[in-house]
Amino acid sequence: MSDGPTYGFDTLQIHAGARPDPATGARQTPIYQSTAYVFRDADHAAALFNLQEVGYIYSRLTNPTVAVLQERIATLEGGVGAVCCSSGHAAQIMALFPLMGPGKNVVASTRLYGGTVTQFSQTIKRFGWSAKFVDFDDLDALKAAIDDDTRAVFCESVANPGGYVTDIRAVADVTDAAGLPLIVDNTSATPYLCQPISQGATLVVHSTTKYLTGNGTVTGGCVVDSGRFDWSASDKFPSLSAPEPAYHGLKFHETFGNLAYTFHGIAIGLRDLGMTMNPQAAHYTLMGIETLSLRMQKHVENAKKVASWLEQDPRVDYVTYAGLPSSPYAERAARCYPKGTGGLFTVALKGGYDVCIKLVDSLEIFSHVANLGDTRSLIIHSASTTHRQLTPEQQAAAGAGPNVVRVSIGIEDADDLIRDLDQALTKACG
Ligand SMILES: *Cc1c(COP(=O)(O)O)cnc(C)c1O
Repeated sequence: MSDGPTYGFDTLQIHAGARPDPATGARQTPIYQSTAYVFRDADHAAALFNLQEVGYIYSRLTNPTVAVLQERIATLEGGVGAVCCSSGHAAQIMALFPLMGPGKNVVASTRLYGGTVTQFSQTIKRFGWSAKFVDFDDLDALKAAIDDDTRAVFCESVANPGGYVTDIRAVADVTDAAGLPLIVDNTSATPYLCQPISQGATLVVHSTTKYLTGNGTVTGGCVVDSGRFDWSASDKFPSLSAPEPAYHGLKFHETFGNLAYTFHGIAIGLRDLGMTMNPQAAHYTLMGIETLSLRMQKHVENAKKVASWLEQDPRVDYVTYAGLPSSPYAERAARCYPKGTGGLFTVALKGGYDVCIKLVDSLEIFSHVANLGDTRSLIIHSASTTHRQLTPEQQAAAGAGPNVVRVSIGIEDADDLIRDLDQALTKACG
């Protein structure tokens, strides 16, 4: 689309980044299933390799289908640029990579997707990086955790497995004062329910595997840059502010301004780490994003109905859904997430571990899978699966104790979902 009026979300989710194919007029974005792109001549090739001209070289770095998705997500998030990756976890490594170095740390919320807790507490140590986990409701603890070696602060907007929502503005006030970038994983909220950049986030990461694609077909991830952080304000971010030996001493921030982080993500991150999204995956995700707002409205509507029903059921101990009036985060949810808090929540059963296992085995519409953000309703017993690698303390902090199941409410008929849960609870509770 041309520069013109600012379009609304529903228009941008269909059009941003895309234009009819100049060669054929194809209206839908073609899947450019090509590894390489012919240079106009040797000078053109040299300019591309020197980053003096922007264009397509090789699909590990850039691909026209993936580029449309990058622009689509960046626009919906209110960022200046984005880099798509092979998965959400790849996006998290890609997001940290330009910021971190041996001995440096990221301060992260305790309320995170289980896989992220494992990635941050175990795997990143191999790079010499480390993570410190703190309760982001305790802003003094957050401030105290930040030290001279901290290079980023990380949290989720609507946290997986549900029930918790972050006050991003309050956290951003702390990171702004500390001169650090705030990275927000916006997977569970999506830009329809929350735009972290408008609340002060520096970078947004996504697992596009989930709601953005929306139907459980492909894995993918994305890093979106707000373009607002001054990488040269301190000497903490030399990858972006100091001369880069791999490009003849080019300084990314000086050369590319507010696009420095995005260019670094492609020219160094994708080039050397190779966590590239393939054009087929980008195609499926583009298809999904076209209906994002419609799906999120229905996910929220259904989740409210199902959570309310579960909450009053005597077999249920408690339900953690930030969209319920009984939630301790109800006020924050209404203030920071006025369109709703998504389709994820956890249910604690009075019966404990065995009843949870029986419940997931007795459901008919809900599928027992390690995924979320699908059109179909999903359920998982986190303690025996996704959160299995965590200590009991970490499980409890993540809201994934042994008596808890996590549900991802789909866009089926809410009454059918309630009937399914009712019959399965009857079987599970004996
Ligand atoms: C699934 C998920 C991830 C990891 O994404 P993958 O695409 O599975 O690598 C990260 N954060 C959150 C909140 C998730 O739900």
